[in-house]
Amino acid sequence: MSRKKEETQGLKHNKKDFSEWYNELVQKAGLAEYAPVAGCMVIKPYGYAMWENIQAWFDMKIKATGHKNAYFPLFIPERFLKKEAKHFEGFMPEVAWVVEETEKGKERFALRPTSETIIYDSYSRWIRSWRDLPLLLNQWCNIVRWEQTATRLFLRTREFLWQEGHTAHTTEKEAEKEARMILDMYKELLETQLAIPVLAGEKTSKERFAGALRTYTLEALMPDGRALQMGTTHNLGQNFSKPFNIKFLDRDEKNRYVWQTSWGFSTRLIGALVMVHGDDKGLVLPPKLAPIQIVIIPIFTNKTRKQVLKEALKLKKELEKFLVELDDRKYTPGWKFNEWEMKGVPLRIEIGPKDIKKKQAVLVRRDNGIKKTIKQSKLEREVSKQLDDIQKSLLTKAKKFLTGSTVDAKNLAGLEKAINNKKMARTGWCGSQECEDSIQDKTAATIRLIPFKEKPKGKCMVCGSRAKHVVYVAKQY
Ligand SMILES: [Zn+2]
Repeated sequence: MSRKKEETQGLKHNKKDFSEWYNELVQKAGLAEYAPVAGCMVIKPYGYAMWENIQAWFDMKIKATGHKNAYFPLFIPERFLKKEAKHFEGFMPEVAWVVEETEKGKERFALRPTSETIIYDSYSRWIRSWRDLPLLLNQWCNIVRWEQTATRLFLRTREFLWQEGHTAHTTEKEAEKEARMILDMYKELLETQLAIPVLAGEKTSKERFAGALRTYTLEALMPDGRALQMGTTHNLGQNFSKPFNIKFLDRDEKNRYVWQTSWGFSTRLIGALVMVHGDDKGLVLPPKLAPIQIVIIPIFTNKTRKQVLKEALKLKKELEKFLVELDDRKYTPGWKFNEWEMKGVPLRIEIGPKDIKKKQAVLVRRDNGIKKTIKQSKLEREVSKQLDDIQKSLLTKAKKFLTGSTVDAKNLAGLEKAINNKKMARTGWCGSQECEDSIQDKTAATIRLIPFKEKPKGKCMVCGSRAKHVVYVAKQY
């Protein structure tokens, strides 16, 4: 066994050892690695390509709905952050500062933990009249949150990448519509591209974004029973437009403060993708986000090498409308199979001398391992069909898991049991902060969301009074 073989052959941990499995897989599949700077990660080309695919889809969607991209500074003056008290208080504990000393004294700049304040300073100068509205901007950038908790690649790092949308509107109704429309767009991204089903709803006031009127969230359930917040949108009301003095002259010649939203998702989504679909052999990527959709592995001896490579290249050409790669490196086919399984490439095509004689190829699915021999003349159609089917089956499988892992809890004992069994609980809540706090004290789980469409029935699981809301409770990432 060569050294190279030992290094890349398989995972040491099963998905049952969830946390170790995740860490090993992210690195072995070539998505990311720990940086020489504590709390930071290096996103490698294969992982970055997935981020680029997510970006491309979402960028196209927001531009089609009138949004534009812009870029604002990484450094945010402390006096900006302080203008909205709750916002400042919320982010203060994890802000990293740059201090500049001048003759006038010291000035502190935050490395952006989020960009509301610096962007809204510009908005206060850019917005004059109702004619300037709505203002619909988005920024793709990095974010710094100087946390002291343990680093987990893609899930918890001090620096990560995200998009943040910031919009300003003439009415509250319009801002609300925007916040909900973007949430729907996020849901579409997650379900149609990442094949990850999510629950949609509102955050409790305790879990709300610091400075928001209302926060909407999409939550996915990971195989270890913890919920992962996949994206949030915030109706900011006039909480920022007042301190930042963002006013517009309305149609009736009166000056009014704008109504705002902000919204974001981050490179965390890649972590979710790994956790939800991956298995004991490695990643399993949904075809719509996979940097490589098909890998062709030629099977040859020294004698047949030239002929097989020629045919394999021909196949590659025929399939060029897909993201296809021909692996002609001088490793054994078995070694290559393992490597591409680790990387989660949805389809593998094997072609050897026998297949060439019969004008066929062997098609192998990554998600279920099913092998099929296909006539070369029908290959393109079959590949297209299989990729669609993989995309659908991944979502179906994940949906089944989500449904099967959600249980009803009637009281705290029931909730504790559910959480200990790595489930998410659906239950009733009276709406009081005390009851919300005792859920967390007793179970270390939190209310992840109040779903949009479910009507409450029964009692609050803590105090037993009439339930005001249905809530979903789980431990969180
Ligand atoms: Zn209660």
